[in-house]
Amino acid sequence: MVIGVLALQGAFVEHQKVLEKLGCETFTIRNKDDLNRAMDGLVLPGGESTTMYGLLKELHMEDEIKNLINGGLPTFGTCAGLLLLANEIQNYDSAFLQTMDITAIKNAYGKQLGSFVTRADFGGKKDIPFVFIRAPYIERVGKNVEVLSVVDGKIVAARQGNQLVTAFHPELTDDFSVHSYFLGMINQ
Ligand code: GLN
Repeated sequence: MVIGVLALQGAFVEHQKVLEKLGCETFTIRNKDDLNRAMDGLVLPGGESTTMYGLLKELHMEDEIKNLINGGLPTFGTCAGLLLLANEIQNYDSAFLQTMDITAIKNAYGKQLGSFVTRADFGGKKDIPFVFIRAPYIERVGKNVEVLSVVDGKIVAARQGNQLVTAFHPELTDDFSVHSYFLGMINQ
């Protein structure tokens, strides 16, 4: 299986390492041409969503990446990647790619002190580690969105068809449940 990992900014290497441990081939996506390579899945990593989106626009990658996602390419967004996909960001004056019917809150746990580690359930998997770094959470989900994780009453993982998002960073732990789930989506 070949997975393209958006590598304009942020924590992309960590995703590549996990995916390669799970037997995938990965490549980095740094420009528009890289989007033409054959891939079975796409990862939008954590980082800073405003910066990442600014780079997507500057490099004329926005329409192409949006078309790939809307065309059904399995896509996994973590943290800033979640914000890139959200239809709406409640505490921000604009949204980014807007491919997923969720409303997110940016820096929902506070900008500086909002980083923490906890354990919770993901889908059917019990008690896996969740690392939050200046994370968003999901305030609202559309009717086609399945909620996969809730922490303190807040939605922190969800799926809509080919799109999977987590507010936390599974690539920073040695539990590969979330990445395995994503590969399962590709195989479906
Ligand atoms: N706070 C970042 C943003 O608004 C997301 C943080 C992260 O990806 N770890 O994009």
